[in-house]
Amino acid sequence: MPDVVADIPERVLAVYAHPDDPDVSAGGTLAAWAAAGAAVYVCICADGDKGSTDPSADPDRLVTRRRGEVAAAGRELGVAGHHFLGYRDGELVDDRQLRSRLVELIRTIQPDVVMGADPTAVFFGQHYVNHRDHRALGWATIDAVSPAASNPHYFPEAGPAHRVAVLYLSGTLEPDVWVDITPTLDRKVAAIACHASQVGEVGEFLRQAVRQRAADAGRQAGVAYAEGFRRVLLD
Ligand SMILES: [Zn+2]
Repeated sequence: MPDVVADIPERVLAVYAHPDDPDVSAGGTLAAWAAAGAAVYVCICADGDKGSTDPSADPDRLVTRRRGEVAAAGRELGVAGHHFLGYRDGELVDDRQLRSRLVELIRTIQPDVVMGADPTAVFFGQHYVNHRDHRALGWATIDAVSPAASNPHYFPEAGPAHRVAVLYLSGTLEPDVWVDITPTLDRKVAAIACHASQVGEVGEFLRQAVRQRAADAGRQAGVAYAEGFRRVLLD
């Protein structure tokens, strides 16, 4: 039987590279948890400054615009708060500095669930290479959660230790749990549509693409629409 998660976390920290990543990767789940009473915090690590193929686009103006899009998308999902680490696109490196900042955030927010990207996914099908920011941040997030944040001897300057109970990894080639997003699929679409700098005019095409992907995962889960994750139980 597919494992469809019914537990509602109390506090969630979703750690993603680019401004639209949380909505595309896990928007239905974050919206479902927020609607059920979870306090959902989102950390965006890179600014989205390279989210344009127009050579004349001004990166700083794009960053400002995308911050507004993140705020609007967060309202659609019911996000309690955003954090921005301010790295440039393509420059996330799984180093001590990034891990330290993630550990500090985890110890400050004290989530029972951390959501992030599965760094082991490199190729999706025959046409897509997973962005290196997703991979670098995914590794940093895993290591920040376990063992670093829970052990006071790692990064003692980053606050008292905090143990995260469950790690969910999106964008995975090996999902082992699913969240039923049938009630929140429309919110996910609406949140993605807020990123107008990336998706342009939102028409039926985007709606269909999001619905199709959720329906594919739903088939694996035995529900209409789902998001699949690799889950790690750390308790
Ligand atoms: Zn991304």
